[in-house]
Amino acid sequence: SRPQNSKLVVENLQRAFGGVKAVRGVSFSLAAGEVLALIGPNGAGKSTCFNLLNGQLRPDAGTVRLDGVDLVGLPPRKIWRLGVGRTFQITATFASMTVAENVQMVFLSRARRLLGLWTPAAGAFRDEAQSLLERVGMGAQADRPCGVLAYGDLKRVELAMALAGDPKILLMDEPTAGMAPGERQDLMALTSSLVRERGLAVLFTEHDMDVVFGHATRIIVLDRGQLIAEGPPDAVRADPRVQAVYLGS
Ligand code: ADP
Ligand code: MG
Repeated sequence: SRPQNSKLVVENLQRAFGGVKAVRGVSFSLAAGEVLALIGPNGAGKSTCFNLLNGQLRPDAGTVRLDGVDLVGLPPRKIWRLGVGRTFQITATFASMTVAENVQMVFLSRARRLLGLWTPAAGAFRDEAQSLLERVGMGAQADRPCGVLAYGDLKRVELAMALAGDPKILLMDEPTAGMAPGERQDLMALTSSLVRERGLAVLFTEHDMDVVFGHATRIIVLDRGQLIAEGPPDAVRADPRVQAVYLGS
C-alpha cells in the first residue's frame, strides 16, 4: 500500500486548437483528501484541462506533476497506472458484460503489470469487485448485465470501475450529467466519503451549483481558458468576478 499524501501540481498549462486558446496558463494543485470543483461556463476549457491531465491531449506548454513525477508526454495508460484515474461523460461500460465482470476487468488490467506474464482468470478478483460494488450501493446488482441498468446505477458502476484502478487522483468530468437532482447529491456524497476513506483526491466538474457548493472542499473557476478565482466555496461564491462571469449576475 502506498502513502496517502499524494499531490498533483499543475503549472502554466496551455493548449490551443488552431486559433482557439482553450487553456491559457492554468496553475493549481490538488492534494489527498480534497474534493476540488472546476467550474466555469460552457467552452471555458474544463474538459480540455481533464484531457491534458490524463494524457488524452498533450499540452503546448506547462507541467503536470504527480508526487514530483512529470506526466507530460506520457501515454494515458501509463498516467492511469501512475494513479490518475477518470470517469467518463459517456458511459464506458460493456453492455453485455455483468456489473461484476466490468469491475473485475479493471482489477485484472491493473494487476497485469504486477503479475508479469501470468494472467489469472478474471474470477480471481470476484471478492474485490463485490466488496467495491457493495461500497457504491451496487452489490445486489453485481450479476446483471450493465446494459439493463438504470442510468444512475450505471454511474455508480463507472465510479466503482474508476476506483478499481486504485487512483490517487480521480478526475470526474460531469459525473452527474443526466441524473435527477437527488441522485446527483447522493453520488457526490458517496464520492466525498470515498475520498475520506481512501485518502484520494477528486477533481470534478458540475453544472449544478447546489452539488458544487454542497460537496466541494475547494473551487477553481475557469473563464475562457484562464483561472479567475480559487478558494473555499464561501469565498468563491462571494467573489464578484465569479458572480459577473459565471453566475451571470
Ligand atoms: P468545457 O468543457 O469547459 O465546456 P472545452 O474544454 O470542451 O470546454 O472547450 C474549450 C474550447 O476549446 C471551446 O472553444 C471548444 O470549442 C474548444 N475545443 C475543445 N476541444 C477541441 C478540439 N478537439 N478541437 C477543436 N476545438 C476544441
Ligand atoms: Mg466539458
